[in-house]
Amino acid sequence: MIGLALLAGFAAAATAQEPTPRGRIALSFDDAPRGQGPLYTGSQRAEALIETLRAVNAPPVAFFVKTDGLGSEEGRARIRAYGEAGHLIANHTNSHNWLSRTDTDAYIADIDLAETRLDGMPNRRAWFRFPYLDEGTPREKRDAVRTALTERGLRNGYVTVDNYDWYIESLWQTAVRDGREVDLAALGAAYVDILIGAVEFYDALAITALGRSPDHVILLHENDLAALFADDLIEALRARGWTLISPDEAYADPIAAIEPQTLMTRQGQIGALAVEAGIAASTLTHLAIEEAQIEAFLEERHVFSAPER
Ligand SMILES: [Zn+2]
Repeated sequence: MIGLALLAGFAAAATAQEPTPRGRIALSFDDAPRGQGPLYTGSQRAEALIETLRAVNAPPVAFFVKTDGLGSEEGRARIRAYGEAGHLIANHTNSHNWLSRTDTDAYIADIDLAETRLDGMPNRRAWFRFPYLDEGTPREKRDAVRTALTERGLRNGYVTVDNYDWYIESLWQTAVRDGREVDLAALGAAYVDILIGAVEFYDALAITALGRSPDHVILLHENDLAALFADDLIEALRARGWTLISPDEAYADPIAAIEPQTLMTRQGQIGALAVEAGIAASTLTHLAIEEAQIEAFLEERHVFSAPER
């Protein structure tokens, strides 16, 4: 006990300046190129997001592209700009359907169409992210798409940290539409706190289910929140001992090679592996994936002024 106390004292002294190392995490942004947001046009957002990431020396991040947005020159220019800034470009289908609700052949054709439309973009990666993280039910459909991905040399661009950043953005959009004042500093702080909570929830779950902290990939969206606050998120992660890494590194983790057999994939790779380890899916809940809780959290933080009566 004395030895442990001494070690703990030494560790505390040694880490007075530096936080205790936690783990490693990569950022990924889905649904690019998204349309007009509460603050930015698409082009303004792309410029702001690239600059926000550059300002904190972020490693490359991944953009999972919904390629129906590449019909316009503006959409193509944004994805090209992300690639030219050193970020990684990958497939999120053309039309963003639920696999479980879509004919299997049509779904695979939509993946192929997205690959074709991404042709010539810089910094491509052979990764595929399932829209809504829906890897398919029933099993036959799930397996047919897994086989199709393997045949095409595409790997599952899974996430380990699920959250509803898109819901925070939609509440912001609604507040603007309703004429409510928005406290951007409070909005950014709430966004960061909700996401840090999600990272630490899935990391603790991984330690319970796998016995270790894997290299993480957080799901984010190419939205105005990211363009404004990705730097704050990165700095908050670093302050808590997290190391930011490229998705290239994260997808080299051994969990990348595991194809979960459970059909419960909607919370990403750690959620699925936790269910396979015997953890009840019903217990996998936290603030960042509960719409009512997110709404209450933003009200509690006074992010938006009182609604007009
Ligand atoms: Zn998506």
